[in-house]
Amino acid sequence: MHAFDPTLTDTIVRHLVDRLSLDPAPLGRIGAAAELEVQLKGAIGARGADPADVLRRYTEAVEPTVVSCDSPRFLAFIPGAPTKAAALFDMVVSAASLHGVSWLEASGAIAAENQVLRLLADLAGLPAEAGGCFVSGGSAGNLSALVVARDTARRRLGLDRRAPLRIAVSDQTHSSVANTLSIIGVDPLVVPTEDHRLTGRALAAALAEAERTAAADGRVIGVVATAGTTNAGIIDDLAGIADQATAHGLWLHVDAAYGGAGLFAPEIRAAMTGIERADSVVIDPHKWLFAPFDCGALLYRDPRLARAVHTQDASYLDAIHGDGAEDHDEWNPSDYAYHLTRRPRGLPLWFSLAVHGTDAYRAAVEHGLRIARFTAELVRRTEGLELVREPELSVVVLRRVGWSGDDYRAWCDDLMQRQIAFVAPTVWEGETVARLAYVHPDITEQMVEEIIATLVAPAPAPALAPAAVSAAAAAEGRA
Ligand SMILES: *Cc1c(COP(=O)(O)O)cnc(C)c1O
Repeated sequence: MHAFDPTLTDTIVRHLVDRLSLDPAPLGRIGAAAELEVQLKGAIGARGADPADVLRRYTEAVEPTVVSCDSPRFLAFIPGAPTKAAALFDMVVSAASLHGVSWLEASGAIAAENQVLRLLADLAGLPAEAGGCFVSGGSAGNLSALVVARDTARRRLGLDRRAPLRIAVSDQTHSSVANTLSIIGVDPLVVPTEDHRLTGRALAAALAEAERTAAADGRVIGVVATAGTTNAGIIDDLAGIADQATAHGLWLHVDAAYGGAGLFAPEIRAAMTGIERADSVVIDPHKWLFAPFDCGALLYRDPRLARAVHTQDASYLDAIHGDGAEDHDEWNPSDYAYHLTRRPRGLPLWFSLAVHGTDAYRAAVEHGLRIARFTAELVRRTEGLELVREPELSVVVLRRVGWSGDDYRAWCDDLMQRQIAFVAPTVWEGETVARLAYVHPDITEQMVEEIIATLVAPAPAPALAPAAVSAAAAAEGRA
């Protein structure tokens, strides 16, 4: 199984070349479980099969039923859009079985990853000591950071493990933070937003109220601010929140999983003033920085605090920590998140950034901003459509006057069936509305016009596959 097999290699490499050369990648479709079960039946047997036959099964059954995130017509949730350089280098990482647990085992890979983390830290304005590691995504980053927030507060305040704690979040905070808080046994202090935006003022009021109930409900030890909400791309009042965090001694975590890419665009960087005061920041390059899945960047203002929490002790791990890691220039990614074994998932981004340069990244991010503004303008000019909110980043939320949730769902299913776009409705203040999320730099104004036209043109008589209908219904609101 481990011998070099030129035929097998050739089969796969030819497939890779074919897939990479698709321009654009076909959108794909949603598979039905029963159909997939039949197509995959018997794939794994005791005696193995010809690789070409297995690959054929893959290209016929699996590949078309994974909606292509690298299609510019993927506009649901938050898409991904890896550069070709990053996608190719991901294969290098795989082919060389690169790993990135510890400096002892993977110093070169970690040094290159850290170069990218440094770039992101500089864009955010974090100090020279800032650092962290790449994790699988925003959820893993939020969890790893908030564990450090919790344990640092316990240590500083001399609190018992049973003492109840709270972390302030907003009613717009990403669902992964609610998961995190449930996992780490910290209660949320949900702060109401002003126009869906968490402000320093609202946080101050909530903290004053929370002080009165601290004994029973727990001290507030941190706050999660969002730099680009997933649903509408709204940037919280980071500077005002940072003021409150300083005044109350709170850990400031900025969830910039989606919006962090905006740091490349000077106008957005200005709107994110305050991010430089964060104790921890999460940015997902697999969203808007064109890295393949799965790639999340986690940064700490003071990485020593993370090390004190995440470093794993086991006698067989002593070797990777040397004699007192504090004084060494070694950097162990396993010390900065809850993981141990990991792929150096920052390397594809490192390669792509080095190949294309940061100017190209800025231009690609700015394209998303421009297309969002173009869409907003088009919506304003189109009778029957309303902009729900002015876009701040690259997400546009809009309403077709008079439509019900079923209308939006039928619209999404129709767009998918006609391969015009993969779109999912969302919910805004209790109302189902349309939402377009732009990440891919190849989305054009013509594509946007084509999609917007389908909202106002008489809907063609739908002949919907039941699987597609239920998938869109399930997807609704997932953003
Ligand atoms: C996408 C997203 C997350 C979750 O990130 P994953 O990479 O999907 O785990 C968290 N927060 C925000 C704001 C996001 O947009």
